[in-house]
Amino acid sequence: MLRHVIIGNGIAGVSAAEAIRSLAPDAAITFIAREQQLPYSRPMISQVLAATADFSQLPLRPSDYYEQLRAEALTGQEAVAIDWEARTVETDRGAKVPFERLLIASGADPRRLKVDGANSRGVFTMRKAEDVHQILGAIKGARHALVLGGGLVGFKAAYGLLRRGLAVTMLIRSNHPLAMQVDAEAGAIIQGELERHGLTVQVGVEVTAIESDRLGRVARAQLSTGQALDCQMVVVGKGVWPSVKFLGQDRVRVDAGIVVDDHLQTSAEGVYAAGDVAEHFDSARGERWVNAIWPVAVEMGRIAGMNMAGRSVVYRGSLSRNVIRIFDIDVLTAGLVNPPASPEYEVLAARDLRRRTYRKLVFREDFLVGAALVGHMEQGGVLMNAIAGRIPVDKDRERLLEPGFNYASLAPMRRVVKSEW
Ligand SMILES: Cc1cc2nc3c(=O)[nH]c(=O)nc-3n(C[C@H](O)[C@H](O)[C@H](O)COP(=O)(O)OP(=O)(O)OC[C@H]3O[C@@H](n4cnc5c(N)ncnc54)[C@H](O)[C@@H]3O)c2cc1C
Repeated sequence: MLRHVIIGNGIAGVSAAEAIRSLAPDAAITFIAREQQLPYSRPMISQVLAATADFSQLPLRPSDYYEQLRAEALTGQEAVAIDWEARTVETDRGAKVPFERLLIASGADPRRLKVDGANSRGVFTMRKAEDVHQILGAIKGARHALVLGGGLVGFKAAYGLLRRGLAVTMLIRSNHPLAMQVDAEAGAIIQGELERHGLTVQVGVEVTAIESDRLGRVARAQLSTGQALDCQMVVVGKGVWPSVKFLGQDRVRVDAGIVVDDHLQTSAEGVYAAGDVAEHFDSARGERWVNAIWPVAVEMGRIAGMNMAGRSVVYRGSLSRNVIRIFDIDVLTAGLVNPPASPEYEVLAARDLRRRTYRKLVFREDFLVGAALVGHMEQGGVLMNAIAGRIPVDKDRERLLEPGFNYASLAPMRRVVKSEW
């Protein structure tokens, strides 16, 4: 009976465990999970902040989940080290958990703010349900919140706080919001929409220090512009790091994430990684990349689990994709939207400034490799499919910019993906 240990009970860990159990009824499965609660929907924590969902809606599985799965769950415990010779995972409660197959599904941790006063009371990140719990606890009495970062999490935090009745200022280091997802032109439309709905947005700005009152509570932020802003709360949404502190030096190859092969095995035999912590191949970029999104974590977890259970299943790489509603504007992005300046890429764009719509397509050689649709998502799914399926588009590319293009005329798929399980 092989002992499978999974670090992390997020969606990647859960997907892996369920795949193992379906293929190996007798396998021993142990979760080591830092958070105490049942596996939950991490994206939905922003809905709790916005008061469109409550904490009771977050769990993904029933309360007797671990019993049903016949898995041991060491919850509220953090993996702090791995003894590679003994093949055990050590936890902060002193447990030494032996493994034959190990999955690292520990996700990512938010980047911390590194300025004076960053540890003041009232400075938060938004990654865990507990973070939202704490933010909600601090909202009472706060009038003005700063959100640092203009990415997806920053926007979701700002939206939630605005809905809770606070004045919100977004401070964005880049020159436009959602800089990882869209270009400056789309960013300008999005910024207009944020401001139209009452958010204050400052771009090209950073916080240089946080000042607190005599009780240690956030009172003011100093900005790189020399300006000072009174505020009672700061939410930091400046990206994430893979959660790999427990790995130690050099035993497992880590780049922007834990590097995994096509079976999602790391550089250590019998040790796998999946989800936000893992770096594999991005099919649109044509290089290794961490695509830290939910559907990628699900698929990687499932495939890692099947391989841990003894199958040989190939993971074919991920595609970055996001659909988000920014107040009244829908935004869809997929693949490589901001390509490097190189003749290798052809970029086509169409805009209707009056209607605040924008469509951008990025091609490399015969293939569509990126798409951004702002305000007009029609046929976004078809475009995503064309990117993911590497459907060649070698002529009449402009027609794909029209929302109602006839996609039947797209060339058929060249590569037939053969299911291997
Ligand atoms: C606010 C927010 C909104 C989001 N919205 C979207 C969205 O709209 N669409 C989308 O696709 N994605 C979204 N995401 C991203 C999505 O939630 C992640 O891609 C997904 O949760 C990754 O799953 P995972 O299992 O790899 O990692 P995680 O969900 O991070 O789970 C990893 C688990 O491992 C635990 N852990 C970490 N270190 C240790 C350790 N040393 N020992 C034990 N346990 C450990 C963590 O506590 C955590 O519970 C959002 C994320 C956030 C924060």
